[in-house]
Amino acid sequence: MPSLDDFATEKLAQLETAQLRRTLVESTRNDGIRLERGGRTLLSFSCNDYLNFTHHPGIKGAAATALLKYGVGGGASRLVTGNHPLYAELETKLARLKGSEAACVFGSGYLANAGIIPVLIGTEDLLLIDELSHACLWAGAQLSRGTVQIFRHNDMAHAKALLAGHRAAHRHALIVTDGVFSMDGDLAPVGDLIALARTHDAWLMTDDAHGIGVLNDGRGSGNPEIDLQMGTLSKAIGSYGGYVCASKPVIDLIKTRARTLIYSTALPPASVAAAIAALEIIDKDKALTRRPLEKARLFTRILNLPEAQSPIVPLVLGTPEAALAAAKQLEDEGFLVVAIRPPTVPDGSARLRFAFTAAHADEDIDRLAEAVRRVAA
Ligand SMILES: *Cc1c(COP(=O)(O)O)cnc(C)c1O
Repeated sequence: MPSLDDFATEKLAQLETAQLRRTLVESTRNDGIRLERGGRTLLSFSCNDYLNFTHHPGIKGAAATALLKYGVGGGASRLVTGNHPLYAELETKLARLKGSEAACVFGSGYLANAGIIPVLIGTEDLLLIDELSHACLWAGAQLSRGTVQIFRHNDMAHAKALLAGHRAAHRHALIVTDGVFSMDGDLAPVGDLIALARTHDAWLMTDDAHGIGVLNDGRGSGNPEIDLQMGTLSKAIGSYGGYVCASKPVIDLIKTRARTLIYSTALPPASVAAAIAALEIIDKDKALTRRPLEKARLFTRILNLPEAQSPIVPLVLGTPEAALAAAKQLEDEGFLVVAIRPPTVPDGSARLRFAFTAAHADEDIDRLAEAVRRVAA
């Protein structure tokens, strides 16, 4: 029988041949936009730190104060002794921003999606999912053991046909999708999804990981008519953690039943305090929240690409080899733009993924666009 090491070695060799092996590269982020890699300083267009809050002095101060006052770790699950008073403050702020009655904070966005869906959907139920949804929505779908039907990306006619064909055979139905698609930067047709869900007696959950803080004055891609507005605290918010906003009964049920909340340790108080401080800035500085999209639109204008709908801009190159080569050339010129390959994106659609932040200078975006012209020509 081949040993575990043989299995791993052979599997890695296969992935290497297909240019799909992944490696961790040591990177030290110096501020909101620059990082050090291999002894060089690179300008990053790959961080999801849209508002550069990971290095915001006021937010760091709030985290440092909480760390010194309350310690480094959460100590236990929120249901045991980890429910620090800072959570109530954060959940109130999140619910207010999203126009919801209540909110629940999780250890991460991945944990939120993996935990929420199985609370609502079981073996008798139907789950509809956009084909380009984030990996953790798929994880939640699998853990739910419901009947999963996949609709073509943003194709409302297809989603409608699937509901017409399958809804009646199931007790409950839930539609899930990214609000802002993480690898394409386009938006889900939220209004149409709400109408579709209403017509077919289905619930709707959208993942706003890339919308909060940067779309619609910081409120994100969703609206209060969505049953479950899920998102992360680790992108524009600059901290760590996940959340969902919904009605009070739904949040109470999730807090009672979501296994990734119940059986996982609470966030460190410093992370919660940082998220609170970030939401306070988003509440006050609307001009800041608009900047990442303005920067992305400057880039798409210069390169004559379709106008950016979010701070994420994809440039599809096809093969993993092409994407890796382009990323390497950009890195040689001082830009960090990570190549995204299958299975993160569908076969044949390997790409460069650009993420723009408030602090990117217009001149740097000009230089980047020039470099991209040479590299992807
Ligand atoms: C990043 C991301 C997540 C996961 O959030 P984490 O807090 O990083 O675990 C979930 N959904 C989408 C769409 C994302 O892009």
